[in-house]
Amino acid sequence: MLFDTHIHTRYSTDSRMTIEEASAQARAQQIGLILTEHLDLKFPEADAFLLDVDSYFTDYLPWRSDTLLLGVEVGLREDVDVENRECVERYPFDYVIGSIHVVDNIDLYTEGYYRGRSKEEAYGAYFNAMIACLRASDYIDSLGHIDYIARYARVDNPEIEYEAFREQIDGVLRLLIERNIILELNTRRLERKAAIDALRPILQRYRELGGRCVTIGSDAHVPAAIGSQMATAVALADACQLRPVYFKQRRMEYCT
Ligand SMILES: [Zn+2]
Ligand SMILES: [Zn+2]
Repeated sequence: MLFDTHIHTRYSTDSRMTIEEASAQARAQQIGLILTEHLDLKFPEADAFLLDVDSYFTDYLPWRSDTLLLGVEVGLREDVDVENRECVERYPFDYVIGSIHVVDNIDLYTEGYYRGRSKEEAYGAYFNAMIACLRASDYIDSLGHIDYIARYARVDNPEIEYEAFREQIDGVLRLLIERNIILELNTRRLERKAAIDALRPILQRYRELGGRCVTIGSDAHVPAAIGSQMATAVALADACQLRPVYFKQRRMEYCT
């Protein structure tokens, strides 16, 4: 079974989706789900993207099954590393995504991050932050949406050109492989050919350096987005000789 491994329900600040809606969608599409609610400690906007982990488990544990698993997406930043690790170790998460949402204490979603910076500077700082966080984070199972910055960047061509950032991207990929952290293939931008063309060389390089598996996740915040572009993602992974996997009780399983 294929798993959509990146889903936000109402425990995430920016989603109102219920678990009933998510579960119904998954059943209709015959895919498995991993819920991965946001936990972004020290987020620049006060009290946003925090997760009431106790309530999350109390509420959702009765729903947990072989095809509905309970994970978390932790926002990586160097100054919350100890707290992130403690949280991940304290609770019985099936799966932990580590993601860069904030660089230099600025939300990448906001215009302020791009003001006065060239693409080279903005993206360079993003990848440097990723490398620094990955060095410290051995408590995550996957790296979320490596192309996150391209969703929001205020630059002419937001796609990540592998050649332009080769040294830093290689640094990221090497760390992933060294630490047994899986690269996520986030489907959110895959309706654009330019996004696929930009991701392909990164996935090929990941494979070349020793990567063998990817997690596939839609990053859905609404029911209609669950499972979107999964077929495109599977085809892209396949073309790069990467196998789709998911995590259960923090152990990697192949999607069959
Ligand atoms: Zn994210
Ligand atoms: Zn997400």
